[in-house]
Amino acid sequence: MTPLSPVVRFAPSPTGMIHIGNARTALLNWLFAVKSAGHFVLRYDDTDRERSREEYITAIAEDLGWLGIDPHVIVWQSRRTQLYDLAVARLKAEGRLYPCYETAEELERRRRLQLARGLPPIYDRAALALTAGDRARLEAEGRRPHWRFRLDGRQVTWLDMVRGEQSVDTSSLSDPILVREDGSYLYTLPSIVDDIDLGITHVIRGEDHVTNTGVQIEIFEVLAGRTPMFGHHNLIATTTGEALSKRLGSLSVRSLQHDGFEPMAVASLAVLIGSAEEIHPYPDMVSLAGHVDLARVSASTAKFDPHELDALNARLVHHLVYEQVEDRLAALGIADNEPFWLAVRDNLAKVGEAADWWKIVATDWTPAATVAAEADAAFWAVARASLPEEPWDAATWGAWTDALKAETGRKGKALFMPLRLALTGLDHGPELKRLLPLIGRRRTLARLP
Ligand code: GLU
Repeated sequence: MTPLSPVVRFAPSPTGMIHIGNARTALLNWLFAVKSAGHFVLRYDDTDRERSREEYITAIAEDLGWLGIDPHVIVWQSRRTQLYDLAVARLKAEGRLYPCYETAEELERRRRLQLARGLPPIYDRAALALTAGDRARLEAEGRRPHWRFRLDGRQVTWLDMVRGEQSVDTSSLSDPILVREDGSYLYTLPSIVDDIDLGITHVIRGEDHVTNTGVQIEIFEVLAGRTPMFGHHNLIATTTGEALSKRLGSLSVRSLQHDGFEPMAVASLAVLIGSAEEIHPYPDMVSLAGHVDLARVSASTAKFDPHELDALNARLVHHLVYEQVEDRLAALGIADNEPFWLAVRDNLAKVGEAADWWKIVATDWTPAATVAAEADAAFWAVARASLPEEPWDAATWGAWTDALKAETGRKGKALFMPLRLALTGLDHGPELKRLLPLIGRRRTLARLP
């Protein structure tokens, strides 16, 4: 890793399956790394021992892998507490971290009082006035402190990669609690310590973190004397405007995978909705990276429409080459058959639908009796009689239908539609000249009325 290459991170808390909004954050980071020959750190924010689960850690890694994200470094916050302890010692020594003994009820009572008086409900810093004697007395009563960071209380500004010049007045915020009574850490301090330790140069995340950034910049400056760049992208909501929730499992990456969507269709939409770029299904990360520009991400919430995904997916599937689907086709029982894929791909919205065409092409069935009425008995008789001998290839269909045309005088739709209905049971589908050799002579004869 050269000191100049950017380092980004995606930092999910493993408390649920990642959804399309989380995927957007992960992908914007990944694509930034791809574009700038940078590094991507996957950091599990698993300090909340109650809610973090091993199964979600595994699922997040799998879902990122499915999307095409391959982290260069993976870290677990739960294994890095020593670093956070050192930072706490430093902040205490520098007088920036102070012990507070208020209970949640006391804080709530004060908050309501402030609101009733028309004051902003921010922490009044009463604990800063405690003497050593006061603290000893409280501790003797069995109280344990939580620890707050003493903010400078100033206008903190930064040039956001998405939102441009941003400013947060930290004098309007409560001093943030960094360490709980039981010694466990809230999100803020571990995140900053890790960003410093791992050399994160660009923090790209959802705009729900804009306010935190004011506080975080103050802490970065104390601990590292410098700050990374920040970029806060807009969030994704459902079509009806509801926020996505990891816990509710809404629009999870896993469910989109199970629904048969292509990862690059999901990735293209997750990244490009709510940006000034035209939404197009890019076939790989490198080409998608070329169309992602944080400065062109819109400031308003993006609505994720699954119908839009259907259309993008179909466009992508029509261009998939055989090697990209070979394994999945094999799993559907369609082995070693590139001609089949090339015949049907333009008619599929999802790769899995190939199974329907496989059934049509490669299993034995007979068309509905009504199909016979699509042409007269003489036509069917000629169709049977003029059916070429095998081996069949792409020219067979033309040879057969030319002969039929010459003998029956039928042409155009009147010639082709009865054959299509007899051979596929459907009035639409892939080119028959491609399907016919796949169906083969025996099945073709069995289907002709
Ligand atoms: N674990 C945090 C979250 O999921 C990370 C926020 C950040 O990127 O700093 O919101």
